[in-house]
Amino acid sequence: MLLLAVGYAFATGVYAQQSRGVCGNSTEDQLMYEHRTIANVETANAGGATDRGAVQYVPVYFHLVGDANGAGKVKERLVLDQLCALNEAFSTADIRFYLSVHPTQNTIFNYSINATNVYSNQDGWFTMQTNRHPNALNVYIVDEAVSGNNNPGITQAYYSNPRDWVVSRRDQISGATNNAVLPHEIGHFFSLDHTFFGWESNPFDSSDPTWPIAPSVSPGNVPTERMSGSNCNTAADKICDTPPDYNFGLYASSCSYNGGAKDPGNVDVVPMANNMMGYFNDCSNYVFTNQQKSVMMADLNSSARNYLDNNYTPPSEEINTPTDLLVSPGSGATVPYYDEVLVEWQDLPEATWYLLEFDFVSTYATPYAQSFMVNSNSKLVTTLLPNRTYYWRVRPINEYVTCAAVRQRTLKTPGTSAVRDIEGLTAWQIAPNPVRNGGNANLFVQAEQSFDANIRVFTTTGQEVLNLPKVHFENGDNKIEVPLSKLGNGLYMVMLQTREGQAVRKLSVLK
Ligand SMILES: [Zn+2]
Repeated sequence: MLLLAVGYAFATGVYAQQSRGVCGNSTEDQLMYEHRTIANVETANAGGATDRGAVQYVPVYFHLVGDANGAGKVKERLVLDQLCALNEAFSTADIRFYLSVHPTQNTIFNYSINATNVYSNQDGWFTMQTNRHPNALNVYIVDEAVSGNNNPGITQAYYSNPRDWVVSRRDQISGATNNAVLPHEIGHFFSLDHTFFGWESNPFDSSDPTWPIAPSVSPGNVPTERMSGSNCNTAADKICDTPPDYNFGLYASSCSYNGGAKDPGNVDVVPMANNMMGYFNDCSNYVFTNQQKSVMMADLNSSARNYLDNNYTPPSEEINTPTDLLVSPGSGATVPYYDEVLVEWQDLPEATWYLLEFDFVSTYATPYAQSFMVNSNSKLVTTLLPNRTYYWRVRPINEYVTCAAVRQRTLKTPGTSAVRDIEGLTAWQIAPNPVRNGGNANLFVQAEQSFDANIRVFTTTGQEVLNLPKVHFENGDNKIEVPLSKLGNGLYMVMLQTREGQAVRKLSVLK
């Protein structure tokens, strides 16, 4: 699971080795939740957590942390892909994860943490705490995950037991096939120990004085597990279907071990290299064992996890993206204004959000990439540059289905700005927006010289539903009431139109 060779040297005891990244959870970190592990193992061994037979859905809330300028946030599409990979990693367990809207922030992702002391380390834990979702598993995605004594750059991710949240470096959030980093940390969240519990800082190898026979107690003071299974309930991770491992994975170059270590009873040790809670790299299929799954389920059903309780079932298990999802602008079309681009797509009943992305190239990964989480089927985009060809695409999602097919088109922006089309118009907006059905809205118009304009309201399909001709606007601030009481619910386009040009704003009418 430790996929990155990060190239920092670090010392463990007398050893100094090149290291790849690691999980930030030390032996001591895991001892902090040892009481939960023991209780959950007992519940699992008694069969109490295995016979429910139904999938339980766990709410998760991702915090997309930026630096002090708000830069460096992980892209939404990577988080959406990662959620799919996470559910794939848990596909043989009866646990699934879904995106949960924050009850007061009302967002599906948290974008509001822009702080160096969270982004580059997690000293700003109070900021993290005040942003946490009270009823979800909180995952903070940062630039540097800092835990314990590991040197900068070593820790890929960690579970903080005191805070009961997960922190991951953003380069570990990708949805890459078989990336075990986030599933591993969520294993800790659900009280699992490393399979090599006790050997975190001192892997057993030929430099050890008792080599090749392991001592009966590990350097972390945890009983050493034996191949016979005779002490599997009390040694190491206390889970009997995970064989002994003395942290052979940390310095292994592949998903296997044949280094010759023997357990305290002089039996050759054969670890389970592809276990999700081990440290081996480059395995093709990381798994949790059946007992690990039962322990996690026991934890989920324990009182410590009451705050995750919910009655959620997905609105649909699948989203079939129609090939004609995108409505307008037409493929390759040149839009009227570069800074007021209305893009529309079909409203799918299975979808509750849409990820809308723009970029100059179809990777959507350049510094010019822009993305928006939209909870309706249109977006008026004001941040595109003039005279460019943009790729744009839409991914429909719901809380649980986040990897449905995308649909993509290109559009061209002109050099024409919408606002500058009306001489004298500095800025304008409509409020309230959305407006309640039956109410009126006000146009707030700021002008640097007086002008007359028509106020016209259109449906999104272009049907005119209101026309106020020759409304006069004075130099300075103007407030004009627009009667909307006869309009039904929906999305409308409000147009200010003069002889020279026009400007358009979107208006929602709701119940
Ligand atoms: Zn770990």
